[in-house]
Amino acid sequence: MGLLLSLRTMATDSNKFQAIISHCKEYGFIFQSSEIYDGLQAVYDYGQWGSELKKNIKDHWWKSMVQMHENIVGIDSAIFMHPAIWKASGHVDNFNDPMIDNKDSKKRYRVDHLIEAKAEEMRIDGRNDEADGLLDQMDKLLAKDDFDGLKNLIVNQGIKCPISKTSNWTEIRQFNLMFSTQIGSISDEAEVIYLRPETAQGIFVNFLNVQKSGRMKIPFGIAQIGKAFRNEIVARQFIFRMREFEQMEMQFFIRPGAQKEWYEFWKNERMNWHLELFEQQGSHNPFLEAQVKQKFRFHDHVKLAHYADAACDIEYDFPIGFKEVEGIHSRTDFDLKNHQEFSKKKMQYFDSEINQNYIPYVIETSIGLDRIFLLIMSEAYTEQDLSTPEKQDSRVVLKFSPKLAPMKLAILPLVKKDGLPEIARKIMDDCKLHFRCFYEEKDTIGKRYRRMDAIGTPFCVTVDQQTKEDNTVTIRYRDTMQQERIPADKVKDVVLKEIN
Ligand code: ATP
Repeated sequence: MGLLLSLRTMATDSNKFQAIISHCKEYGFIFQSSEIYDGLQAVYDYGQWGSELKKNIKDHWWKSMVQMHENIVGIDSAIFMHPAIWKASGHVDNFNDPMIDNKDSKKRYRVDHLIEAKAEEMRIDGRNDEADGLLDQMDKLLAKDDFDGLKNLIVNQGIKCPISKTSNWTEIRQFNLMFSTQIGSISDEAEVIYLRPETAQGIFVNFLNVQKSGRMKIPFGIAQIGKAFRNEIVARQFIFRMREFEQMEMQFFIRPGAQKEWYEFWKNERMNWHLELFEQQGSHNPFLEAQVKQKFRFHDHVKLAHYADAACDIEYDFPIGFKEVEGIHSRTDFDLKNHQEFSKKKMQYFDSEINQNYIPYVIETSIGLDRIFLLIMSEAYTEQDLSTPEKQDSRVVLKFSPKLAPMKLAILPLVKKDGLPEIARKIMDDCKLHFRCFYEEKDTIGKRYRRMDAIGTPFCVTVDQQTKEDNTVTIRYRDTMQQERIPADKVKDVVLKEIN
């Protein structure tokens, strides 16, 4: 774990964060990329259960954003795009982070991260007002690109490099976050292109294609899920900050002048989406509602990105503290106007209701798939002490909502003989067409239950001798660990009811 991270997590729940990382690896959710070659920093692979969970999150987002909105459609644009797009979008000139190097350790840091870590230290000491003041000062200096002021702040606050423990800092410099590569087979003809740092531009350059071919009327949205790439300098927070990650973005095209109203609309919609997901995932306990609300907050941007006239983040209280999960940005007509200028193609929309041509304004909702994955994992991960006076016992259970759980049902014959596997297989055949099921006959039933708890399977059914007599099975509920007997032919419906 990075030192910067460790500074921030001391007061929070660093053990839990570490435990989640280990659990993700041990149970096939997330592996370090290229692990057998000692790994590639800030790049991760999703394993057998991680990829299922990720797919379920994508489906849930797609359903709520595209299927449930008649005026939103989805696309899937290519990662490679014409290099002029990144000039027009402002990323070549503006997609920078202020960085500072420590001359002794030769380590490079993002300036905002160093100052935030200092503020976190202050909070640990109970100096909350000072911490707020420091962050406020930082936001104002960042907004003005005042690098001298930021350097002074770092020096005056006595911020030291966590590795060398010195304050021997360089000047602050900007660092562009885009990866570049070449297209074309002969190097002479090769042209530098960029790996997209956001999926949004694929939507903007297809705005008219979609609008015309889909006969879309403003207001309407275009959604997309896809990979994005950023050469993050400080990338040490597991899947929170990666160099290759996935975004789920939606650009909502509106009339100029309507941006304030739609910005508020999408802020609310997206916050509600998080709260609902969170409640589904929780234990359905109404007393938890207040707690749920405390886990999320808005953070308004003081320093606006080059394209925005208003922007905020939805932050969640991760085990490493409150951090951004999603951004809501009022992007004005910045992108479409610039694409019109650079491509020399008209990006206008004719609004027949008001008989006017205009370049639409845009509200963007942009959520990191990997961050929402980490959020769901952080919320689901539970260590339970099940000790009794007679016996010490504990379990790790992932309390995913049945909708999101990678595996919905485990089918477990109590023993590997007496025709029980055959009955269990029949149940499996009945269910696997409808949802993801897992069959296992090895080990004691207790061990098998625990393995299913560890990957968050909400239901286990056990086939035993009684099944042969009355065709009932025992169904075990993951969170309560309660068990009851139900007819074998009802298993499918019980699960379907919970996941739909
Ligand atoms: P941050 O301030 O954390 O670097 P950002 O404000 O640059 O994030 P946006 O450009 O608004 O992020 O991107 C939208 C969303 O994409 C973010 O809310 C986040 O969920 C996700 N995201 C951005 N960068 C990364 C990354 N390096 N790794 C994983 N997810 C990311």
